[in-house]
Amino acid sequence: MRLANLAGRAALVIDGGAVDVETASDGRFGPDPQALFDDWPAFAEWAETVPDAAPAASVAFDVTDLGAPVPRPRQVFAIGLNYAEHAAEAGYPPDSMPVTFTKFPSSIVGQQAVVELPEGNVDWEVELVVVIGREAHKVDRESAWDHVAGLTIGQDLSERITQLQGSAPQFSLGKSFPGFGPTGPWLVTPDEFADRDDLAISCRLSDETMQSSRTSMMLYDVPELLVRLSAVCPLLPGDIVFSGTPAGIGNRRTPPRFLTPDDVLVSEIEGIGTLTTRFTVAD
Ligand code: ZN
Repeated sequence: MRLANLAGRAALVIDGGAVDVETASDGRFGPDPQALFDDWPAFAEWAETVPDAAPAASVAFDVTDLGAPVPRPRQVFAIGLNYAEHAAEAGYPPDSMPVTFTKFPSSIVGQQAVVELPEGNVDWEVELVVVIGREAHKVDRESAWDHVAGLTIGQDLSERITQLQGSAPQFSLGKSFPGFGPTGPWLVTPDEFADRDDLAISCRLSDETMQSSRTSMMLYDVPELLVRLSAVCPLLPGDIVFSGTPAGIGNRRTPPRFLTPDDVLVSEIEGIGTLTTRFTVAD
């Protein structure tokens, strides 16, 4: 199942078109994409029946109408240094606990966002984003995936001067300017992937490939992240987890390269699609 936020309304993406959730379910499920996660198992079960029941109801849509598939998560977890090559380029040794911070929810936007660049050095980080569908508290590896509603693509945009100022880094602030959390284009349920633990992940900046890896290269894979995070915090339905970025960020290039208003950032994950982000500066 592919679940999108189409101009603020939940929609299933079927055969390239959209099926409005509230209409197709006769109001059993409302239009709010965020509210579906509160009743996720029932929604997912119903959604499986839709392609056979109502193929004709699928209508073409404009990708610029796609909002964040999870527009108002209560908690946003983000993981740093989760790919060995990226940890090395960032100058850190692999750690015994995943580095955890937040992107404040006001930073979350969707497909085709135009993000205003603040002063400073704004960098890209393509990431697999995990969406929680069932509350997860102290889960074990074996059941971890059962708590996942789906996967989407995220960009953990980061302003490096804010992030790295001071004696201890300010990860959460430096990564939470408005628009710094593009996600999308939609949520894809785990059953849609041939191997949900091994997906090609990449990003291109104005047609130049900057990052290219596989999610199987994560130091802490999706089940392990959910084990470690849920050992401390209950993960709530509709929460999201940015799972870390592979090597190839702008801050560690020679010379360093940062985002400009002329850039188009295209992030891609196998089996999900592409997420396009553009930039502007304040007048
Ligand atoms: Zn990141």
